[in-house]
Amino acid sequence: METLSTEIEFAMHPDPEVRSRTPILNENTFVQTLLDGSENGDFLALDLGGTNFRVLLCTMKDGRCTSTTNFYKLPNETLSGPSAGVFDHIADSIHKFLTEKNLLGETLPLGFTFSFPMVQESLKKGILRTWTKSFSCPDGVGEDAVKMLEDALFRKGDVNVNVVAILNDATGTLLAGSYLDHRCGIGMILGTGCNAAYVERVENVKKWQPNGNSRSPQVVIDIEWGAFGDNGSLDFIKTKYDAAVDAHSNHVGSYGFEKLFAGHYVGDLGRLIMLDLVQNGVLFTPEAESVLSQWGVFKAGHISAIEKGHETIVLDEIGLTHLATEQDLAIMRQISSMLTLRTAQVVSGALAVFIRRMQWQELTVAIDGSLYRYHPKLHEKITLWLEELCPLTQVKLIDAVDGSGKGAAFAAAVAVKQQSQSA
Ligand code: BGC
Ligand code: MG
Repeated sequence: METLSTEIEFAMHPDPEVRSRTPILNENTFVQTLLDGSENGDFLALDLGGTNFRVLLCTMKDGRCTSTTNFYKLPNETLSGPSAGVFDHIADSIHKFLTEKNLLGETLPLGFTFSFPMVQESLKKGILRTWTKSFSCPDGVGEDAVKMLEDALFRKGDVNVNVVAILNDATGTLLAGSYLDHRCGIGMILGTGCNAAYVERVENVKKWQPNGNSRSPQVVIDIEWGAFGDNGSLDFIKTKYDAAVDAHSNHVGSYGFEKLFAGHYVGDLGRLIMLDLVQNGVLFTPEAESVLSQWGVFKAGHISAIEKGHETIVLDEIGLTHLATEQDLAIMRQISSMLTLRTAQVVSGALAVFIRRMQWQELTVAIDGSLYRYHPKLHEKITLWLEELCPLTQVKLIDAVDGSGKGAAFAAAVAVKQQSQSA
């Protein structure tokens, strides 16, 4: 675990030359205020993280929120096409949403959760550093995602939304967590990808720039820890299966930390281990090779299902029932539990670095993401590891359902309040 903290120390180093040698961003999000109960009004939220995205309308009354959400899907071809295709599709969906809710004529503030690494220049300017996960548009990197969204809304016409905040999903989850529990100091995404955001004291931020004229002593930092180890510091835990997953991914050689366990990758890790055992005559029969050679047949959800004791359903789904003996089931259980242990250990290790750094007596970590939510054991395992790694802090993990979506609406509410305070 020592190497992880070393890399974080590098990322926070005062010397820009030293900082530039680490792929971790540790970016200022310009979010300096969490909710305080005085938020009122209607706010729109857009949450884009994977192929599914959602649009929310959140009505806040004295800090209490009631929301309605619509889900939309990006056509697969947009993920590798020009980024304008992604944003045009989103603008279309926002138009549909507003039409359906009878809100087309109104000017509403919108918070935009954009689940990719950004360098933020203000609360409403986020320059995309790189696409990750299943996105590989040839352009968009180096551009402001708010501008890309606004341009698409302009092309669509007839939509009067005002994008007031852009944020990462980890930041959104932290905001949503602080709504549920005032001790919340970390927001984490454990889903298709993995990342976290935490509350830092501004005097520790080396290139400090406040949000407007905010005097708040704290700021949310987006860590982007998916990129841990991209300088080689995690090579010691990588296996030949990790190398294969990386080589097949959209962004070879980067985001190596999340490739160790996140939902977009972990199924294939399990599949490659099984394939290896089939090829060595240990698992199933040679017939299984053709099934297990297909990328994506074995998914993160299958690991959770096996951990719940639903091996037979999984075998049915991937079409291997007729080849499996009791011993094969035991091997599959063993592989799944090893991958669970790996996930719990590396995630706890990364969390522990920040929990120890923050030195709060009680600290709640808000978590959003399907990998965490639908896994029967991760909650307990991460809790236990953190007890061991952070004995001085009472840590609680909470499930912030739809945190990345609601968090965007909360960020919009905070932004509007900050604007009116500095006006
Ligand atoms: C992205 C992060 C995001 C995380 C979880 C990663 O691939 O780089 O920005 O927070 O996935 O969605
Ligand atoms: Mg998300």
